[in-house]
Amino acid sequence: LFVEQTLSAGARIALGGPQAHYLARVMRVGEGDAVVLCDDATGEWAARVVEAGKRSVVLEAAERLRAREEVPDLWLVPALLKKDRFHMVLEKATELGAARIQPVVTRRCVADKLNADRARTLMTEAAEQCARTALPQLGEPVKLEALLRDWPAGRALFFADELGGAPAAAAFAAGPDKAAVLIGPEGGFDDAERAMIRAHPQARAVSLGPRILRGETAALAALSLWMGTRGD
Ligand code: SAM
Repeated sequence: LFVEQTLSAGARIALGGPQAHYLARVMRVGEGDAVVLCDDATGEWAARVVEAGKRSVVLEAAERLRAREEVPDLWLVPALLKKDRFHMVLEKATELGAARIQPVVTRRCVADKLNADRARTLMTEAAEQCARTALPQLGEPVKLEALLRDWPAGRALFFADELGGAPAAAAFAAGPDKAAVLIGPEGGFDDAERAMIRAHPQARAVSLGPRILRGETAALAALSLWMGTRGD
């Protein structure tokens, strides 16, 4: 379970709400039971239940099992999609090891905002399920123009373009460790946006194959190719 508190040997952690419910009602933990806790700072810890109530569970951290993992420095920059589809992007990007998810708003986006709390819950649950010890960062949605204007120096911006680009796997393998993949919305980028992206000095157009993929599929495909070619 990911906890807000930074863990250390002997630290006491009081859990309430859904996490206490999960431990007490679903896992039916009792005093002395072992539970693995994670914080996003120090990593994964073995803990023991010291009090198991119906609405709260108190645990004590014992020893650290795994340090916070080094996650490949890959950002996913997906245009906002319809809610359920974007939630899938958040979950799969967490499982596939993205270090940061930076949502972008483009002219053809159907959605223009994101429920950050819901997003963080989905990402935390995905991280617990896939045993990541580091949560992806989640950025505030930004407009494409601002994203390109403020793009960080030294980070490659792979632009997934269904109209063509370098084969993604080869581009990723040859590319730098600090990178990002930009994926468009259901309606794609319009001509002005495509021109703006391609004009950016750090942007490189990549192709994910001959078919037109949904945004969520393209995100998943790009991340899988990235992890596959770089063994991360
Ligand atoms: N132009 C598309 C159409 O005709 O339906 C709309 C965009 S597509 C549904 C969503 C996004 O996925 C695109 O903006 C692009 O970033 C990415 N994408 C889809 N297929 C791709 C491919 N074969 N190669 C690279 N990117 C792709």
